[in-house]
Amino acid sequence: MPSKLLDALLLAMPLPDTLESWRQYLKSQLPYPVQGAQTLFIGDPALVIVAFQHDKAEVLLPAMQWRHHDIHTVKPRSQGVVEARNGSLEQLLALVEDTIALRLKSFHECSSCGKRCAPEVLGSLQGEPVCRDCIKGRRVLF
Ligand SMILES: [Zn+2]
Repeated sequence: MPSKLLDALLLAMPLPDTLESWRQYLKSQLPYPVQGAQTLFIGDPALVIVAFQHDKAEVLLPAMQWRHHDIHTVKPRSQGVVEARNGSLEQLLALVEDTIALRLKSFHECSSCGKRCAPEVLGSLQGEPVCRDCIKGRRVLF
């Protein structure tokens, strides 16, 4: 069983070449803005999260919830893991693409301005989905 010290040492180590090349590929080749270092947040708003660890890359679906008017909590859901030892960049990219497609399906159209928005920026006004910008606009009007 790995000790806590070993975990800490592994976290501090640079990624193995395979994972580092995958990470660089995601950072430079995807048509989305990418933030983060060891954990990449791809897209704005985030469409997919890829968390690199010392021997694997985990692909996560950013599932956010709008709790109160402006507070959302991030609860990413794991979509799968690709291990450096027996996985490939193709597998990782397929997982990333599936996750992006899944995430985009959760987007909804604002009933006021028609923009497709991530669920965490949508509220509801008289039962209709309305984006945060439109809700803010209405607050100013009233
Ligand atoms: Zn709107």
